[in-house]
Amino acid sequence: MQTNKLGNTGLEVSRLGLGGIPFQYISQKETGEIIGAARERGVNLFYTSRMYRDSENKIGLALRGQRDQVVLGTSTHKRKKTEALKEVRDSLGNFGVDAIDIYSLHNVLTLSALKEIMSPGGAYHALDEMRNAGYVKQVGISAHQPETILTALELAAFDVVEFPLNYVDREAAEGTEQLLEELQKRGIGFVSIKPMVFGYAGNANVAMRYVFNCRPDSTIVGTYNLDELNQNLAAEADPGPVSRDEIMDTIAESEKKCFKVFCRRCETCVECPRGIDIRTVLRWYEYFDRYHSGDWARDHYRSLRPSLEACDNCGVCERDCPYHIPIKREFARAKVDLLPRRSPRRLVKKKLFGD
Ligand code: SF4
Ligand code: SF4
Repeated sequence: MQTNKLGNTGLEVSRLGLGGIPFQYISQKETGEIIGAARERGVNLFYTSRMYRDSENKIGLALRGQRDQVVLGTSTHKRKKTEALKEVRDSLGNFGVDAIDIYSLHNVLTLSALKEIMSPGGAYHALDEMRNAGYVKQVGISAHQPETILTALELAAFDVVEFPLNYVDREAAEGTEQLLEELQKRGIGFVSIKPMVFGYAGNANVAMRYVFNCRPDSTIVGTYNLDELNQNLAAEADPGPVSRDEIMDTIAESEKKCFKVFCRRCETCVECPRGIDIRTVLRWYEYFDRYHSGDWARDHYRSLRPSLEACDNCGVCERDCPYHIPIKREFARAKVDLLPRRSPRRLVKKKLFGD
């Protein structure tokens, strides 16, 4: 496994790292097996987020006894200082460590979000304070637009940047070259994220080789099982150049398979005022639409809380979605296709007595 310096942080990281999204969906045993196998092959960077539910606990347990051999990273999507301070304390407890190597501000997608974070009561100051106190060693920021990162670097002392690098995410790709040059010039560590774009990048070997050839200090990838881990390790061991034809073929293949509206699961729409888990709704509807697994999707919709019916069409999610997904239109389609029809009797009852 090749290792690289993470900018000027003094950390040495494996160029393949593991991201935390999958660990919230699989068991502790499965997480332990993946992390154990990754450690045997030299992976030392493990990076997650407060948003990925119990992933910090699972990573912490799987790495018990190896603290001095690994680099631990996590992130918060909180924007206020008081909230972010609590997040750091929670993360320390979840991982079971005295200090966290990299703590990032998660998914800062707009300049107004950046402004809030940098304001006197903003979350940046919590991480800075924790860095000064030694509980956090490096402060990072993740975003999807180079402009947001470049502006952030002018405003504050970030040590590490996380940014999407793949051949699918066109919006992120614009300006990436300039961003990478700037990071190198300033000695800021660069961890690339979303190499597989939740599977949309198609062939894992092509997708991972593409990223390694862009030379980030490390790239983190979500890994649900040992087969996926082995595929990624194979690409890391032999990251030969990727031809344009290979990329075009794998994108064409993926586009054929994928539903036209493709939610990149970027997490931006988590702030739905009604608390609806928009990514999950879109994912399940994608299964219905793409794989025709109607019964499976309907069963899952029944258990969804808050239900899809709680959506009041406010449009906040569409305003914030960096990929311009027509969420309201998709929800309207999903309601027709997946929600149980109301019986005429129930509708009459509702009309007469309310729900
Ligand atoms: S339109 Fe619906 S799903 Fe979107 S933010 Fe508003 S309530 Fe939530
Ligand atoms: S709907 Fe848009 S904002 Fe929400 S997760 Fe998908 S791509 Fe991101």
